[in-house]
Amino acid sequence: MLHYAPVDEDWMYPNVGEDDCAGGVAGGSHIPTTPHEQAWMFYLPRTCAHCTYPACLAACPRKAIYKREEDGIVLIDQSRCKGYGECVRACPYKKSMYNTYTRTSEKCIGCYPAVEQGIQPQCVVNCIGKIRVMGFINPPAKARADNPIDFLVHKKQIALPYYPQLGLEPNIYYIPPIHADREYLHQMFGPQVDGAIERYRDLERDPVAAGLLCLMGSTDRIMHRFKVERGKAIGYDDKGAELVQVPVTEPVIERAAFDAKLGAIRNNTP
Ligand code: SF4
Ligand code: SF4
Repeated sequence: MLHYAPVDEDWMYPNVGEDDCAGGVAGGSHIPTTPHEQAWMFYLPRTCAHCTYPACLAACPRKAIYKREEDGIVLIDQSRCKGYGECVRACPYKKSMYNTYTRTSEKCIGCYPAVEQGIQPQCVVNCIGKIRVMGFINPPAKARADNPIDFLVHKKQIALPYYPQLGLEPNIYYIPPIHADREYLHQMFGPQVDGAIERYRDLERDPVAAGLLCLMGSTDRIMHRFKVERGKAIGYDDKGAELVQVPVTEPVIERAAFDAKLGAIRNNTP
């Protein structure tokens, strides 16, 4: 498999070059009404996908990498790692890095100390866009409609693994961007991307899916079940205790632009 294996100086930047523009636009041009025809971009926050079949694990001659049975998190045992860098070369997602200071390889630890306490990883909890959710997925045949991850991946099929053709079964799923170049998205997510985008566009007619999206970022606890009823989305922990309730439609409050009492102009930042 060909990809960029960072040299020592780049160890902290395993994805160097991936954020670069593919081309320029003519000086003085503007973004037209359909931007994706001329220019498009999207962010893809990428962490280790804690693959079902991790290439990093298979490549390690020291057997320093293991996948935990209880939660599927893939870890590098720092005491066994001798820094050969085979995992860095093998991971097609470039998620293992060779640290030239410690002389060992490192990667995302899935925030396992938090997960063991029923808390979602920091990158999920801290996402200010509230676009992330972490949970446990079932095999397709055992998918439950009230499990948040099963719902997004198996039932609704709006969240897809990226580069599934690499065969590692990555356990990070993305709701694909709707305005990016379709050919590019096909390459990244496979042909299922067309249906996923169509269903995502239709979400306003699906209060259950819309409710689940509202639950994302609403609690730092891992949600094992959810339900949507009477305009409220409710998340539950593994014991069935309620974690959080959010309205599916945020109330809209209109206020005058000028606050006479404080003598200040208001803005619409919530
Ligand atoms: S994304 Fe890369 S580093 Fe993470 S488990 Fe998969 S192969 Fe290993
Ligand atoms: S915050 Fe935790 S789960 Fe997220 S990338 Fe970092 S180690 Fe991995």
